[in-house]
Amino acid sequence: MTMDILEKLNILENESRKLDPEPMLRNHWRKSVSDYSDSFLDNIGQIKAYVVSEDRGRDIYNTPIGEPKTIEALLDVLAYNVDRPGLNPASGGHLAYIPGGGLFPSALGDYLADVFNRYAGMFFGSPGAVRMENQLIHWLCSQMGYPDTASGNLSSGGSIANMTAICTARDAKNLQAANFSKIVIYSTAQVHHCVHKSINMVGLREAVKRKVPMDSDFRMDPIALKRQIHSDIASGLKPFMVIASAGTTDVGAVDPLDAIADICAELDLWLHVDAAYGGFFIMTEEVKSLFKGIERSDSLVIDPHKGLFLPYGTGAVLVRNGQKLFESQHMMASYLQDAYFDVEEVSPADLSPELTKHFRGLRLWLPLQLYGVETFRAALSEKIWLTRYFYEEIQKIEGFEVGPYPQLSVMTYRYVPESGDANAFNARLVEEVRNDGRVFLSSTMIEGVFYIRLAVLSFRTHLSTIQTCLQVLQEKSALLAKGFN
Ligand SMILES: *Cc1c(COP(=O)(O)O)cnc(C)c1O
Repeated sequence: MTMDILEKLNILENESRKLDPEPMLRNHWRKSVSDYSDSFLDNIGQIKAYVVSEDRGRDIYNTPIGEPKTIEALLDVLAYNVDRPGLNPASGGHLAYIPGGGLFPSALGDYLADVFNRYAGMFFGSPGAVRMENQLIHWLCSQMGYPDTASGNLSSGGSIANMTAICTARDAKNLQAANFSKIVIYSTAQVHHCVHKSINMVGLREAVKRKVPMDSDFRMDPIALKRQIHSDIASGLKPFMVIASAGTTDVGAVDPLDAIADICAELDLWLHVDAAYGGFFIMTEEVKSLFKGIERSDSLVIDPHKGLFLPYGTGAVLVRNGQKLFESQHMMASYLQDAYFDVEEVSPADLSPELTKHFRGLRLWLPLQLYGVETFRAALSEKIWLTRYFYEEIQKIEGFEVGPYPQLSVMTYRYVPESGDANAFNARLVEEVRNDGRVFLSSTMIEGVFYIRLAVLSFRTHLSTIQTCLQVLQEKSALLAKGFN
């Protein structure tokens, strides 16, 4: 019997030890991956921002999961099916949605985080990793003007961060399910859709949602907000929170935060600011003043995978009164009883829905420390000036008109054909730009009008990229105008 077990274990161990590669194999795999990523980065300037292909990576299914394969074969599959078709977010020509780029030191941070696999969820497990995440949260809070009593959490992105903030607000205001249909939440029509998803996910689907009117630059009108809150109180509803935007996705509008904070303070509403896209622009001299009042918010969301150029997978939620976040998220379990031994610092697991989590602090800490803050500040200022440059230059190309002057680094514009359906023309134009691939642009509808967007936030976007973008727009619009009608 014992012999049987030992024999069996011997056989199984021989097989399972393969999961821990020998140095030579490890080195071979690492070198193959590093050569592959170097060849990508060495040529990033020539690689298209968007690749249209018929197959769209379909052949991935021809490599079924089952038998072991070589790294060479797998990198070929990856190159053809994943890293070729569609959007190339690492390209500086990615000027759509909200780009970021993906800083190289973050990849190294992820590599180290994965090799060492430190558990950054609890102080007990990895006090150093938790302190690093707390240091980052503290730094983020200080950038936003939050006090030392603030707290927060690094999340997978802005959506989960918004959900965590809204959940905290719900608990801090002690809302009762029986009253949810009387609760009122205020935002503009430009608020990000993930905010609505978050409201639903934290159970507030039945709450009344008010779309507060905006000025001509798509900023919340605080007078209209105040009037709406008073009218809701008068009709027996329970105004609960205002969700302001500091940089809307469509046009980069920053709501008047200070005026909104006054109203929230006076009428006792929770103020949440979605600064997922725009928040880091507070670091620049150019537009810092737009963010005045953000330090008075109760919670806010900011996305390092946008404004600090990290690869996808890092957002952050900050809560002014950190205790409220802790009270909303902290929970004990019997199997965790040893983990609360001699705790010196609050842990991410007590401040978020996640327990086991990626050590995502390292991918933020490494680039911040390697480059220093000034480099980020300069890159963010550059994005603002590139957008202002585009705003001036696009108007010099015949046929183009622009939306509001860019508050940050997102703006709208469109081509107005001499005759025919302008919306259809601009939809074709976006398609032609995508087929060309040198730059990638996205569009939006604002009050029934089709606009093309420019979103400058990749660290790889520089003057030459914007000039290429202008040239592509000029070429394609002229071609289309010839054939249109
Ligand atoms: C991107 C964005 C979000 C959503 O964040 P994700 O990181 O994509 O989940 C929320 N709000 C605004 C304003 C955004 O730009």
